[in-house]
Amino acid sequence: MSILKVLRMGDPILRKRSLEVSEDEIRTKEFKKLIRDMFDTMHHENGIGLAAPQVGVLKRVVIIGAEEENPRYPNAPRLREQILINPIIQTLEEPKVGQGYWEGCLSVPGMRGYVERPQKIKLQYFDEKWNFYDMIVEGFPAVVYQHECDHLDGILYVDKLKDTKLFGFTEEVTTNGKDLD
Ligand code: ZN
Repeated sequence: MSILKVLRMGDPILRKRSLEVSEDEIRTKEFKKLIRDMFDTMHHENGIGLAAPQVGVLKRVVIIGAEEENPRYPNAPRLREQILINPIIQTLEEPKVGQGYWEGCLSVPGMRGYVERPQKIKLQYFDEKWNFYDMIVEGFPAVVYQHECDHLDGILYVDKLKDTKLFGFTEEVTTNGKDLD
């Protein structure tokens, strides 16, 4: 089990574009280890998603998962564990005013910010066995996929804040009566 260091906002690697992964690459020992280490790291940090650039690897790989109740997101729905390779997202609607989430990020520890995103997306990706998926996703999972896939293009949720006044330390925004996901 290896816990990797999660890069924090300000590290220039988080702002770079990650590169596509090839089918040959996913068969390698190194790649399989990367995936295992990413899951170990996500579980250790109580994340519900992690993108490879967050651990300093500029590859288009994202993992998602919250199969148990997560202390950082106690009210969020469960998400089954998934590995997304070379994901592509197409948004199918505009963000709706008032339908945002208080997002957090392991690269922006201790903070939350309110972001409104499209609630319906088309998601295409390969899994770790190179099976191709093409699906429509709605609601909270659609938000998580967008947040994680943004990392692959060097975008952080703070770039998409609805209002900088709706951004702060988790304890502060929570004690001010917000029910966070
Ligand atoms: Zn993040």
